[in-house]
Amino acid sequence: MSKEESLISLQTDSINLNIIGNVCSPYKEKFAIPRQPGLVPSAKGKVKLVDEANNIELVRGLEQFSHIWLLFVFHETMEQGWKPLVRPPRLGGNKKLGVLATRSTFRPNPIGMSVVKLDEIECSNKQVELHISGLDLLDQTPIVDIKPYIPYSDAIPNAQASFAQEQPKKVLTVAFSTPAKIVLQQAIKAYPDLENLIAQILAQDPRPAYKQSLSNNLVIDEKIYGIRLYQFNIKWRLISASQIEVFEIN
Ligand code: SAM
Repeated sequence: MSKEESLISLQTDSINLNIIGNVCSPYKEKFAIPRQPGLVPSAKGKVKLVDEANNIELVRGLEQFSHIWLLFVFHETMEQGWKPLVRPPRLGGNKKLGVLATRSTFRPNPIGMSVVKLDEIECSNKQVELHISGLDLLDQTPIVDIKPYIPYSDAIPNAQASFAQEQPKKVLTVAFSTPAKIVLQQAIKAYPDLENLIAQILAQDPRPAYKQSLSNNLVIDEKIYGIRLYQFNIKWRLISASQIEVFEIN
């Protein structure tokens, strides 16, 4: 078997990595993407392998793993640069921590890592696709590596994780207006899980941290918010401190 040339090249102070795949995700914009994988199990997507990596031999045996690590580039924000200190949203956006003490997207090297569920590996018309769920990635995110998730080493049940020890609580209930329900019904064949997807995303309260603390102090948020999932524009608002209404889906 011939040996492929390495995709990586090392210069004196930098490394060039090649993209091995691209993500197809329901998330068409950053707003409302969960902050970590696994929080929205109904979020389903694909990794399409590209170029030399688009070869079924690369993933032989991977189907025996239920979960995989995706290493990727924060391509949407990478040009905005980075700062040594960031404000993690989990701390309400008003406390600064070192960037390397957080999972901020604005990092010295804009590399992200997410564990996702591997649902299926498909190869048709010479295109290898990994079907995944629970992703926290924007559509078209470039993938630079994929590895199997190994529970005995990757999961450390007693690990200490400061402000991120617990999964964020689902704080809001989500209701759908009658017109929104009609659109969900019309779309059910192509998108059978769309209602769950929207409900799981919005239950996390994707609003900026300062808006959440205003609501905690019972200040009414009258803003109309929108999220883009697949080809849908979804409009929603708070109808009480603890309830969201999805009132329009286009
Ligand atoms: N699980 C990864 C990690 O820990 O490295 C990502 C965590 S980061 C806090 C998750 C956020 O990254 C999402 O909420 C979304 O706003 C953002 N994001 C996802 N894909 C992105 C991309 N391709 N470019 C820029 N930002 C992205």
